[in-house]
Amino acid sequence: EVAHVTQPKLKLEDIFIAVKTTGRFHKTRLALLLETWISRTKAQTFIFTDTEDEDLSSEGLNMVVTGCQSDHSQQALSCKMSAEYDGFMASDKRWFCHVDDDNYVNPDALLSLLSAFPKDSDIYVGKPSLNKPITAHELLEGNATREVQFWFATGGAGFCLSRRLAEKMSPWASGSRFEQTSAKIRLPDDCTVGFIVGKRLGISMVHCPLFHSHLENLLLISHRSIPHQVTLSYGMFENKMNSIEVKGRFSKEEDPSRFKTVHCMLYPFTSWCP
Ligand code: UDP
Ligand code: MN
Repeated sequence: EVAHVTQPKLKLEDIFIAVKTTGRFHKTRLALLLETWISRTKAQTFIFTDTEDEDLSSEGLNMVVTGCQSDHSQQALSCKMSAEYDGFMASDKRWFCHVDDDNYVNPDALLSLLSAFPKDSDIYVGKPSLNKPITAHELLEGNATREVQFWFATGGAGFCLSRRLAEKMSPWASGSRFEQTSAKIRLPDDCTVGFIVGKRLGISMVHCPLFHSHLENLLLISHRSIPHQVTLSYGMFENKMNSIEVKGRFSKEEDPSRFKTVHCMLYPFTSWCP
């Protein structure tokens, strides 16, 4: 007799959301996330930074102060991604999701995206930053190099990995190995994830248009699709402020990122919403 086993439904608690930040962005960027989406996902959100902050840890947030350098170098950023990966592996969560501190995460949209994948499959999902695979020159023994091509998900738009895939990545991603792999291809952390999944494991990335970075034109996101987007972003693009277009009671001056406006659209009963 074959038992009919129903899979437990994926819950928000099953997702490890890693946010990458740095000391000088705690007040300028992270505070906005704490007021908005992180206020609804506190227990499953883990803040990876480089600077202690008593104001933040006293709020009961999961803070991970890495020993990584506090700059925008490839090494410093790979060091943080490595800490995020190791933090997830040590947790009991089913999914690892990475975002930057200029991303808005819609937890319900994230949950419905991840719930649609078969349980225990190898999933790497995010938005490709280029319209074709990136070419890298992998350093081999001696001074030789080898040209490799692979897709990768832009870190600035956020991406997720299933636990089963994350476990398979371990020989190239755990402990000091993530930074070593990153040094081999001389490319940033997000490219390194794509390289491990695509070239070391031969697993394809799932391209998803619901993740957004400020390197794309955010004005193209339609108002009615906003509740379905998994991540949003804001920031500079070609020397101009790039943010989504969404009407609400907050002016552009009060809410330049539009994250407060989006949050009040999704959760109108939030105490500070107009
Ligand atoms: N970041 C960091 N250390 C730095 C600079 C940036 O950890 O010295 C993080 C930052 O908090 C963000 C990500 O790296 O999560 C990307 O930084 P930013 O948005 O400033 O630059 P972008 O690469 O998007 O242009
Ligand atoms: Mn950014």
